[in-house]
Amino acid sequence: MQMKLLQDRIRRDGQVEPGNILKVDSFLNHQIDIELMDEIGKEFYRQFKDRGVTKILTIEASGIAIATAAAHCFRCPIVFAKKTKTLNIAGDVYTSRVDSFTHKTTNDIIVSKRFLLPGDRVLIIDDFLANGKAIFGLSDLVHQAGAELVGAGVVIEKGFQDGGKKIREMGIDLHSLAIVDAMDPVTGVVFRPED
Ligand code: 5GP
Repeated sequence: MQMKLLQDRIRRDGQVEPGNILKVDSFLNHQIDIELMDEIGKEFYRQFKDRGVTKILTIEASGIAIATAAAHCFRCPIVFAKKTKTLNIAGDVYTSRVDSFTHKTTNDIIVSKRFLLPGDRVLIIDDFLANGKAIFGLSDLVHQAGAELVGAGVVIEKGFQDGGKKIREMGIDLHSLAIVDAMDPVTGVVFRPED
């Protein structure tokens, strides 16, 4: 089930930008509405509370506030993957390569081996799902660590891009709080109807 409070907020304050970008920086990833964030955290908890989550993994920067809100409910640490242009191979880190949808660049993402352990049950959280590169890279880090990926939660899935399909086909239990099936600068966003 999608989250109506979030859909209403996207309808009201989201801005559709050229290049298939939905701007939600007045409440989600620049200025942050903390009450909405609390509800988002609770919703992820409702969805994944029975999975024995020991760690929430996200990617800097926009994922951190969302993951933190969820972690308050799960009572577990969050770990955020850092983006870097210069790979520090001397460090004791897991790394993966991620193409950025919004910045049209490629980053290596890294997580210290101290913070993802075999035996961890990891929930991935991110703000947007577009082509699936960020979630794919994060799931790669989980597998390198020998940890178990129990699911992925995203706040906004852009259903007209193929990331959601690819991630679900990989067998990852993906839950999106809002799924945008179409968007246009003039007419706004259209959400996926519930089945
Ligand atoms: P993906 O890796 O799935 O192609 O893209 C997801 C990442 O790109 C997210 O971490 C998010 O930061 C960024 N992103 C993708 N689409 C959008 C969008 O429409 N709006 C914003 N603000 N970020 C996006």
